[in-house]
Amino acid sequence: MAITVVGSVAFDTIETPSGRRERCLGGAATHFSLAASFFTDVRVIAVVGEDFGPEQEAVFKTRGINTVGIERASGKSFFWEGSYLENLNEAKTHNTELNVFGSFEPKIPDSYRDSEYLFLANIDPVLQKRVREAMPDVKLVAGDTMNYWIKDHKPALLEVLEGLDILVINDTETRMLAGMSSLVKAAQEVMSYGPRMLVVKHGEYGATLFHKSSPKGESAERTFRAPALPLEEVVDPTGAGDSFAGGFFGYLASQPHLTPGVLRRAIFYGSVMGSFAVEKFGTERIANLTREEIDERFEMFRVLTHLD
Ligand code: AMP
Repeated sequence: MAITVVGSVAFDTIETPSGRRERCLGGAATHFSLAASFFTDVRVIAVVGEDFGPEQEAVFKTRGINTVGIERASGKSFFWEGSYLENLNEAKTHNTELNVFGSFEPKIPDSYRDSEYLFLANIDPVLQKRVREAMPDVKLVAGDTMNYWIKDHKPALLEVLEGLDILVINDTETRMLAGMSSLVKAAQEVMSYGPRMLVVKHGEYGATLFHKSSPKGESAERTFRAPALPLEEVVDPTGAGDSFAGGFFGYLASQPHLTPGVLRRAIFYGSVMGSFAVEKFGTERIANLTREEIDERFEMFRVLTHLD
């Protein structure tokens, strides 16, 4: 099974209590595809500028990620600068430069057309919608977004949500999107915009899976929460959310059926990938991870959450 993902491929300047890194490889589609590549085939749609060279390309290639759909344009790649000096759970954005993404016209390579899974990673909702419309036959569509797009591009974002099966966002974004402070009510409101499932990420505290409630009001039984692994040190939270989404959706794509058990395990795999992502700056940790390390940490999660 293959996932096509559209989203930012970027250079990030990041400051955390552990230090500062200038222009390291980042972007939502980058972090997502690296994490998902441990579970299934991944194909990326994005645009980069002349500053994206063989060193950056090699990070994708080493993980076997298909980069045919990463277009080269004249100009600079997407650039983001953020810090986490006050709160490791929430980035403070200092600068966002869309650069080549500002005039990007996504094209779907023929070799991507048989993808059964589509992930609309964080980028302008107008681009997310175009890719969604160009791939009408996919089996399952999930997506992400962030405060930047919720705040100033809400009408376009609502059009994207109509075409989603699963939305993966954090708790602040859920409340902001719904305009409600109760998370459970906000989750139901967000699902009324389209997605039948919502995965709410709680940073270092884990994630909750919500299903659209039925007329019988069975929503409580269909809500599932998994903790995050308590980590001694978080070096850089950038990409944790996208790595969570990559582990979650990559695992779903590797399974024949979307059963409740598969969804629950997918949340665990998402948490596993998120926990690795924060251990080093940028893509450093996940790009050098092994499948054995993933399986070991999955077992740690099982022990952490086991009752008897
Ligand atoms: P997260 O997983 O939520 O920490 O996302 C981190 C990535 O999001 C960074 O590598 C950034 O390059 C990327 N990013 C930041 N702002 C935006 C934006 N407005 N649109 C798309 N991607 C973004």
